[in-house]
Amino acid sequence: MELNAAFEIVRRAWEKNRLPHAFLVLGNPREEGRQFSDKVAQLLLCKNTEFAPCGYCNDCMLVREHKHIDSIHIEPESKSRKIVVDRIRDELIEWAVRTSYLGGWKLATISFADCMNQEASNAFLKTLEEPPEKTVFLLITNNPGMLLPTIVSRCQTIDLNTGKQPVPAQWRDRVGEIMAQHTTASELRAFATASRFAALFEEIKGVAEEQAMEEKKNTTDLNISKDVLEGWIGARAKEMRTHVYLALKDWYRDLLVVSSAGANQPLFYEEYREEIEKRGAKLTPETAIACINQIDELIVYLDERHIRPELALNYWLGRLR
Ligand SMILES: [Zn+2]
Repeated sequence: MELNAAFEIVRRAWEKNRLPHAFLVLGNPREEGRQFSDKVAQLLLCKNTEFAPCGYCNDCMLVREHKHIDSIHIEPESKSRKIVVDRIRDELIEWAVRTSYLGGWKLATISFADCMNQEASNAFLKTLEEPPEKTVFLLITNNPGMLLPTIVSRCQTIDLNTGKQPVPAQWRDRVGEIMAQHTTASELRAFATASRFAALFEEIKGVAEEQAMEEKKNTTDLNISKDVLEGWIGARAKEMRTHVYLALKDWYRDLLVVSSAGANQPLFYEEYREEIEKRGAKLTPETAIACINQIDELIVYLDERHIRPELALNYWLGRLR
C-alpha cells in the first residue's frame, strides 16, 4: 500500500477516536517504515490540531529528528542485532507506563521488531495485553513471521510493501484468476489449484523459449551452444516464476490486511475485493502470515533444489488456505 494511503487509514481512525493500540507495519524500517512511523508520531503530537501533522511546528520538527520526548524508538543493538529484554523493560515499558510529558499521546516505535528475542517478545506481549492509555505501539518489520503470533494478532497490520514489487500485470492477473478459484474445501479442489499453476508454468516455459530463441536470432555470436540456450531459457523462466510467487504473496498480504484490519482496506487485488474480504474474515492474521511465510519457503526451496515447481506447489498449496 502506498504510504499516504496507509497514513490515511491511521488518520481516519484517529479522527474517529478509534486508534488501535498497536500497528504492525510491514516495510523497510530504514525507509518507508520510518517515514510512516514519523508521520504517525507527528499526527499524534503536532500542536496544530486543526491540520495535523503540519510538519513545521516544534513538535513536528522534534519528531522528525527523533528527539521528541513523547516518541521513542527501539532498535536492535548494532553488534548482536537483537532487541533484548532489558531494553524492552527499561526503555520501552518504563516509558510506556508514564503519563506523557506534554499531557497528550505517546508513540513507541520498534524498528526491526522481528529482532526481539523470546524474552523481549514475552515482556512486550504483556504490555500489549494491558496497553497503557493514550499510547500507541508501532512495530516495523519485513519479517512478520518471526514475531510471536500473539503479538501479531494484537496489532493492526499496515502493509507498505503491497504493490511495490513490479510484478508484470500479465502474471499478476493470472495469479488472481487462479486464486479466486482456489479452495481447500477438498484435497481434489486444492489439487486443481496446483494443476492450474502447473499449466501456468508450462506457459511460462514456452514464453521463455520464445524469448531465448529471439535473443539467439539477434545475437551476432553464431556459436550459441545448446547448453547456453538452455541456460537462457532457465533463467528467464525462473524470473517469470518468481513474479508469479510474488503475485501469490500479494494475494495473501491482502488476506492478512483484511483479517487483521477488517473490510474496506486498500487492496492489491482490488478486482477480487468481495472474495478477499469474504475469505479474510474467516482467517486469523496468524494463518495469513503463515501462508506468506510458506510462499517464501517455497521460493527458497525451489531456488536451492532443482525440483519440478509443480510438484512443490502441489505440496505447498495443500497447506495454504
Ligand atoms: Zn506540527
